[in-house]
Order: sequence, then C-alpha cells, then structure tokens
Amino acid sequence: MTSTIIEVRGLGVGFGDHEVLHNINFSIAKGEVVALIGPSGSGKSTLCRCLNLLVTPKTGVIESRSERFEFGGSAKLPSDRLLSSYRSRIGMVFQNFNLFPHKTVLQNVAEGPVVVLREKRASASEGARRLLDRVGLAHKAENYPEQLSGGQKQRVAIARALAMRPQAMLFDEATSALDPELVTEVLLVMRDLAKEGMTMVIVTHEMAFAQTVADRVLFMKDGAIAENKPSAEFFAAPSTDAAPSTDAARSFLSRLANS
Ligand code: ADP
Ligand code: MG
Repeated sequence: MTSTIIEVRGLGVGFGDHEVLHNINFSIAKGEVVALIGPSGSGKSTLCRCLNLLVTPKTGVIESRSERFEFGGSAKLPSDRLLSSYRSRIGMVFQNFNLFPHKTVLQNVAEGPVVVLREKRASASEGARRLLDRVGLAHKAENYPEQLSGGQKQRVAIARALAMRPQAMLFDEATSALDPELVTEVLLVMRDLAKEGMTMVIVTHEMAFAQTVADRVLFMKDGAIAENKPSAEFFAAPSTDAAPSTDAARSFLSRLANS
C-alpha cells in the first residue's frame, strides 16, 4: 500500500483581491518525486510555499501524515507551535540559498537541529558533518557562505534542510540562480536524494532532469493544475495520445526545447 505524505484538497490562495491559486487538488505518495512545471507567474512558488505553510491559503485542506490544516470558513488558523513543527518536517530549498551569512557552513547545517529539534550541539555538529560529507562539502565546514560558489551554497542549503530529517523536500528553482557550469553538481545531489527514496517536489525548468528524475509532472497554468500525469506520459512524443493534452503544456515544452 502506498502511503500519502501530503494531500491537498480545494486549495485556494489570494493576495488581496488577486486570486493566485484556485481549487488545487493532488496528493504525494511516500518516495514520490513530483516535478512542478509551468510558465512564470503560474503559481509554482506560491504552491510550494503553501505546502510548507509559509503562505496561508484562503480555502482548502492540507493534510500530512500527522497534521490536518483547514483554511477558510470558520476554520481557526493553526497555532505557531503547530506551524513550526509542521514546517520543520517539510524541507525547503530556495533559489537564493537563504544561508545565514554570519555562521559557518557547519553552523548553518547544525542550527536547526539545535534550535528546533533541541539536539545537543555536539551531536548536531556530528550529524551536520555527515550531511556535508554526503553533499561533497566536508572540507568547507569551517568556511562562511560568502567563501563558497553558488553551487556549493546550494548544496549546503540542501544539507541544512536534510538536517531536520524532513519527511519531504521542496525545491523551488534550486538551480535557477546558478551559473550554467554549477547546475549539474546540484542536480546530482538532488538525483541521489530521489534515488534514496526522498519524497520531493521540484520546481524546475530543467526538463531533461525532470524527465529522468520525476515520477509525475504537475503542469500549472494560471493558478491551476492543468495536467497531472506520470512523467513518462507527460514527456512522451507529442504524436502519442499520452503526451501533454493541453496546448499550454505543449507550447511550454516546445519553447523550452527551442531556447
Ligand atoms: P511562479 O513561481 O510560477 O512564477 P508565483 O507563485 O511566484 O509564480 O506567482 C503567481 C502569481 O502570484 C503571480 O501573479 C504573482 O505576481 C503573484 N504573487 C506571488 N506572490 C505574491 C505576493 N506576496 N503578493 C502579491 N502577489 C503575489
Ligand atoms: Mg517561482
């Protein structure tokens, strides 16, 4: 039996009068890798932020294994304590790394376990070293973020998220800010995580990567999910029945292929 890690039902988000996501429904199974793709402004980042509850939806339900959050109507907003415990279990990696500039690489990775999980500093540092080793950066433990390349910073950010032992990881254009020659080292870390069975949601414009790593594609357009398909079907040759069924998805793919 597959177990669901996150389920989203009837999710709606607005900023002021501007409705940004409408009636979003999907679920993510344990170990599943979902690529979230679509044109700029279609709502991918907002959806990622909702999954981590960095953005509060206006309507709908988000269910994880141990928590159920309901929004809209008479539903009460979740307490800060509940939010922070939920967030700590859903790792997030941003385009711009968001590392603490005045902490060393090791401190960046160990901070969450110490502050949020109340681990002893020594054991958090030991865990942080293991994770840095895993992303190929053990030798940078005592450096500061500004001494690293973009690709190295992003690998530290991934190690930092993993230090919280998340049940799922969200990547919002994790390689978009990187020089082209630094993209691969980050994608390889992400690919290895996927292989190891991490549940992942990946917002990316790297279609070759999405095609090889993702189990499923959610294609977004105008704040809604226009397609939700196994990636093999989504990326199938357009002559087959299985390829993207919407014009928007087909033209999105062909624009990327020609860029
Ligand atoms: P994507 O990541 O697919 O490019 P976003 O989720 O960033 O799309 O944005 C979706 C829409 O929501 C856009 O129209 C954007 O202008 C709007 N939006 C995103 N964040 C905010 C915000 N904090 N306040 C107002 N509008 C926002
Ligand atoms: Mg975005």
